[in-house]
Amino acid sequence: MTAKLAIVVGHTKNSPGAEAVAPISQHEYEWNKDLALMMTQTALQDFGPGKVGVEVFYRDGIGITGAYNQVKEWGADAAMELHFNAFTPTANGSETLYVTDISKGLAQAVQAATVATLGLKDRGVKTPQAASGGRGQRSLSQMGPRPSILTEPFFGSNEGDAAQAQECKRELAAAQVSAAINYLLTPFDNDDEREWVVTASSLNIRGGPGVEFEKLGWGPLNKGAKVALIKRYGDWFFVAHNGGEGFVHSAYLA
Ligand SMILES: [Zn+2]
Repeated sequence: MTAKLAIVVGHTKNSPGAEAVAPISQHEYEWNKDLALMMTQTALQDFGPGKVGVEVFYRDGIGITGAYNQVKEWGADAAMELHFNAFTPTANGSETLYVTDISKGLAQAVQAATVATLGLKDRGVKTPQAASGGRGQRSLSQMGPRPSILTEPFFGSNEGDAAQAQECKRELAAAQVSAAINYLLTPFDNDDEREWVVTASSLNIRGGPGVEFEKLGWGPLNKGAKVALIKRYGDWFFVAHNGGEGFVHSAYLA
């Protein structure tokens, strides 16, 4: 089993985002381009090429939607977009943003790893509205039923934050990418819970983890059909059956 994690570099070469104070003295785009490459290197070292795929995507020339279309075509299990924060010189700390419910667990895993590595103030996981009046909302609404998060590991406008992030950059890359991959791999490693049997007389297969998502054409499944669990999203399971993939409510599986 493999986990495919897409790293999206925030902003573009022409519009590179906030500029951090010394010792970083770079915009978000340049600093995170380098961080993203560190992430692909450490992921390969820590997990090996057979177990994970980590690919870097850019918004240059194609915009947010174009970048996430590439992410989805690649078949990513999740996306992590890289930024850093900027506000007044005294604002500080780490936060991770998410929009969809299924993204919250991944956001929490990456936030915990970030705080443990940098040791900066834990500002928690939050939605873009709560964090900054909607910044990041569009990026975080592109992945449909797959988790999507946006990282703001420090304030580039804060001297202490910037110094710490620069000092621990490689450790930050390793901690964030391994937290994300471990989160994605966790259900795959639990072999005894992989196979489930449908107990309802007819079970709808949906395009996402909730009744608001569309029913997929290859369903419904009849009682006794066997499905393979790919990933849990709370009470909803993302499963495979005869080459099809989709979401079912776990109350109708045994
Ligand atoms: Zn940004």
